[in-house]
Amino acid sequence: MDLFVHNEIYCLWICTSCHYAVTPQHLDRHLRTHHRWHPSVKTAELRQAALTEMLKKAWIEPRKEVCRFPSPDSLPIPHLPVYSGLRCPLCSYVSRSPQTLRSHMSGIHPETRRPRGGDCYRKPNIAAAAESVSCQRFYIAGAGSQFFAITPASQIERVQKAAQMSKAEFIQSQINQVYEQDQQAQAIEQQSIPIEKHSSEVSPWMELTRWPEYLRGKNLAAVAPLGSIPDSEKEPLLTVFVQSVERLIHRAYQTIASHRINEFDQIQINTFFRRPGVWNRPIQIYLRPSTYRQYRQVWQRLICFAYRSSRPDQPIILRHQLTTAQLAALDQMEEYGTRLLDQPADSRSETRYLIKTIEDQLDEACLALSIALLDHSLKGDLFESTVIGFLAIFGINTDCSNFRDPNYYTTYLSALFSLHG
Ligand SMILES: [Zn+2]
Ligand SMILES: [Zn+2]
Repeated sequence: MDLFVHNEIYCLWICTSCHYAVTPQHLDRHLRTHHRWHPSVKTAELRQAALTEMLKKAWIEPRKEVCRFPSPDSLPIPHLPVYSGLRCPLCSYVSRSPQTLRSHMSGIHPETRRPRGGDCYRKPNIAAAAESVSCQRFYIAGAGSQFFAITPASQIERVQKAAQMSKAEFIQSQINQVYEQDQQAQAIEQQSIPIEKHSSEVSPWMELTRWPEYLRGKNLAAVAPLGSIPDSEKEPLLTVFVQSVERLIHRAYQTIASHRINEFDQIQINTFFRRPGVWNRPIQIYLRPSTYRQYRQVWQRLICFAYRSSRPDQPIILRHQLTTAQLAALDQMEEYGTRLLDQPADSRSETRYLIKTIEDQLDEACLALSIALLDHSLKGDLFESTVIGFLAIFGINTDCSNFRDPNYYTTYLSALFSLHG
């Protein structure tokens, strides 16, 4: 039966064209609905023969038997798609959306339910600590169809690599790898059909960043506002966030102005991009005090992007994933930000003191989020990184028709990398 492959460990048959497992009970229906033109199963007799043949191997009926599931550190099971999901912090349940995870938690772990309104801060938000995982499932519905966490091979390899390298070496190797893959893809393309070049053609810069791939199928005009500076009327919480970034930048500037840090002279990152001809001038970071003004906006927009793109009601789904640390920091920012907005506008000294305290807490969470975001871009899959996602959004030009020229980026990229210092 060439339509299915048998998996001995989990005792099931996986349809290699539909990419899910089929139960003995549903085999006939599956063949009739999805593969009715397949020569080997055209008639009832042929289908019965297929079933008999397949039953010769161990085949679990999930309605009657307990299914086996892989351990979270297993490699993905061949022929099944890999999805991104969230793992319940309290059990092995994996869901594909924050909403399902929340309803799982309130149903299965009722003790984690939080009071509504302002009182919710009295209890920690455990759902926010859910870890992003890669997951699969055997069946698309019914018994045994739950998602389970697995570890993609690339991730295992990356973790091993990252452990042996410095951060700089690791970024360089990741970028080289992306570049290498693009070169190969290009080589294959050149061998096949000659493509006519025109003005909006993807530049080497685009090939290197693969932003078009990250944003494929998205309406650039709809996606671009995700990384914009907030409107204080419509997005009061984000306005509080960008004010927090402003305070952090101010503090960093003060520190440098008072020469407490002296290694901030000049950092070159052009070694990351050693390949000649990718672009003409090296990217350099000059950390002069005057450049700090530019950094503020980039940082503010990154925070806004992280927040907007991770809202449960956000209709635009992008590929990046927030890590547990990022989600936890963002959740804290939301908590302190909301508390700040709730403060009455009066000038009594107790109120001023309270506001200052909450601002400090917010700034700390904001810094934690920023560091977690920048760290992610170094260790994770490039496309799972919010920073890489942000750079793609940031790269959309003003009329939303295409991406900006690399020269435009050098200042802004350097801003972002410097923030990590
Ligand atoms: Zn099938
Ligand atoms: Zn759970």
